[in-house]
Amino acid sequence: MADMIELNGRQYRRPARPTVIVCADGCDPAYVRRGIADGILPTIASFRERGFLGSAEAAMPSFTNPNNLSIVTGAPPAVHGISGNYYLDRESGAEVMMTEPGLVRSETILALLSAAGVKTAAITAKDKLLRMLARGLEGVAFSSECAGRAEERLVGRPRPDIYSADLSLFVLEAAIRLLEKGAAEVLYLSLSDFVQHAHAPGDPEADAFLAALDARLGRFLELGAVVGLVADHGMNDKARADGSPNVIFLEDALSSRFGAKSARVICPITDPFVRHHGALGSFVRVYLRDLSDLEAMIAFSAALPGVALALEGAEAARRFELPQDREADFVVLGDERTVLGSSAANHDLSGLAGRRLRSHGGLGEVEVPFLLSHPLGDGYRERAEKARLRNFDIFDFALNGAAG
Ligand SMILES: [Zn+2]
Repeated sequence: MADMIELNGRQYRRPARPTVIVCADGCDPAYVRRGIADGILPTIASFRERGFLGSAEAAMPSFTNPNNLSIVTGAPPAVHGISGNYYLDRESGAEVMMTEPGLVRSETILALLSAAGVKTAAITAKDKLLRMLARGLEGVAFSSECAGRAEERLVGRPRPDIYSADLSLFVLEAAIRLLEKGAAEVLYLSLSDFVQHAHAPGDPEADAFLAALDARLGRFLELGAVVGLVADHGMNDKARADGSPNVIFLEDALSSRFGAKSARVICPITDPFVRHHGALGSFVRVYLRDLSDLEAMIAFSAALPGVALALEGAEAARRFELPQDREADFVVLGDERTVLGSSAANHDLSGLAGRRLRSHGGLGEVEVPFLLSHPLGDGYRERAEKARLRNFDIFDFALNGAAG
């Protein structure tokens, strides 16, 4: 068996000991800082001495699917092709969920490790990600959302509700059982951001979830694993002082200025589980009926209060390393306090049930934790301290830098 696999210009060592990579969905660095200060994250706090405790930049847009694919391919969306949770197929005019494995343009580290004979597992909270992450993977692959009898037996309890913090804990517990049985050497665990969408750092519900996460990371260490943890994106409060969502309905605004149906706004945060964010994020894509309005529409959008940036699609693709052929005519980013929607009529905000909206998608949510449980060698410590780390460097750091 080969000692190395190679993907997208990087080489990865076979693990010398079990290696667990956690993508803690929506885990803004503020949760980690607050949790360490409050003393509820003893395992993570210990990484500062024994391993590495830092932060990294997520891929843009700061959404779940693009970043999970970046993490398992070690590359930006321009390489793997997944630029949102959702996109508009220009040819058919259809809005498509980006969950089809056929849309992914790269192999994954997981598939190549499994092909090299490494016992590999991918476990996700939500099923929507699993098929893309587990493409080509010969090994354990399931979601807690769709856990069957065998997985319930493995964890020793019934699968949790999709709208629960427990959905993520079930993932972590399944990984513990696999490690205990020696059934996996490399595990990729992708959690849910259910808690972070609803609760700010320091809220009792956020604290309870983070403490439970920390305890399970501690168990991974007891079982001899190297642990790397990143997030797919951060999370910010996007509500007004009165508690209502701080939203710009961009398609409505463009319609009133440029005429009805002059532009179509696609919200790539959209997924089947919109209850906690109403499909409102801080990055949208705009498709025009008539391209002669392009410059005027970009200027109009850029001038709206709360808009951080409006960019022509090709420019956005260059700047954010996105696939050119899947980009819109232009993109609009909200600032860290503002989300963008299409038309008010298209967004069901009843699921917020009076809670303040917390969401992501823009540049305000690209900073994420980058944590390793073991000391970094081979120049990785210098890189971590000097270079701009990306969340999708985590497999490189865990397999090559922290092997010990
Ligand atoms: Zn996410």
